[in-house]
Amino acid sequence: MPKEAMFYEKLEDHRVRCVLCPHHCVIKPGHQGICRSRVNEDGKLIARSYAQVASLALDPIEKKPLYHFYPGKNILSTGTFGCNLSCAFCQNYHLVHGNPDTHTIGPQQLLELAGKSRANSSIGVAFTYNEPIIWYEYIMDSAVLLKEKDLKVVMVTNGYIETEPLHHLLPYVDAMNIDVKAFKEEFYKKLCKAGLSKVMETVEKAAGQCHIEITSLIIPGENDDLNDLKQMARWIAGINPHIPLHLSRYHPAYRMDRESTPAGTLEQARQIAREYLKHVYVGNLAGPDNNTYCTECEALLIKRDAYYTNIIALDQGHCAGCGKEVSYIVT
Ligand SMILES: [Zn+2]
Repeated sequence: MPKEAMFYEKLEDHRVRCVLCPHHCVIKPGHQGICRSRVNEDGKLIARSYAQVASLALDPIEKKPLYHFYPGKNILSTGTFGCNLSCAFCQNYHLVHGNPDTHTIGPQQLLELAGKSRANSSIGVAFTYNEPIIWYEYIMDSAVLLKEKDLKVVMVTNGYIETEPLHHLLPYVDAMNIDVKAFKEEFYKKLCKAGLSKVMETVEKAAGQCHIEITSLIIPGENDDLNDLKQMARWIAGINPHIPLHLSRYHPAYRMDRESTPAGTLEQARQIAREYLKHVYVGNLAGPDNNTYCTECEALLIKRDAYYTNIIALDQGHCAGCGKEVSYIVT
């Protein structure tokens, strides 16, 4: 069930300019945008992945990753194909850049599935796996229904979206995990064919309206400069030092073939980020302490072992150790 896209302009000769993301693709009839999900059909921009679901699974919310948003709960997670970025190190390329089988799940049906998943400790729907921004119309239509039933809407995104569509979307989103892939424009330009400043704008705007956590994939020799990491941590702290940062281990994938990130690099990065941020976690690696501690008395609040999460000392938003209200943990 393809649908006419939002956020585009009609040009001469049946061409269109998509203004959903900062690429502003000018698309000729019969052609598609960089994201592969928006096609020009006779001068009309069509969201061809609308309601076309390639993956649907019940995941622990920690897997998104979101560590401070309903810890220990599950979330119905869904995605389709395509992305507006073309990162050489894509960790999900078969889905993102391939042509996976899809089946149609309209917004109403998604709502029904999300409602049923409540019996399995699910809090709502996460749009993830591929880039949800390019699924904009489907997410908007679904989110309106989900919110009416008090189901949560989560997006796991690269944050590369134009200002206006983001503004219209944010009131319907409860939480986002946003990728900040590096803190250098050159990195985004060279390896993702995109830009950092728009991603920063998304983080800053989203932080004011919903719960956010940030993920950064650390790639040896590309974005493991400790000074850049320090700048990034300082910038996040300027927004809110309680925003959780997930430093994720890179594994060779897609068009990049470097060695996996050494554990020592991730630990160093974590130490530096911790100078500015209250909660820094290390992902894609067994071993590191990914528990959450009270920032006042250091009591263990949430214990994590892979995807097993135990809430130890959280009592209606307060630390059971010192009694203080905990910041930036939604339960
Ligand atoms: Zn405490």
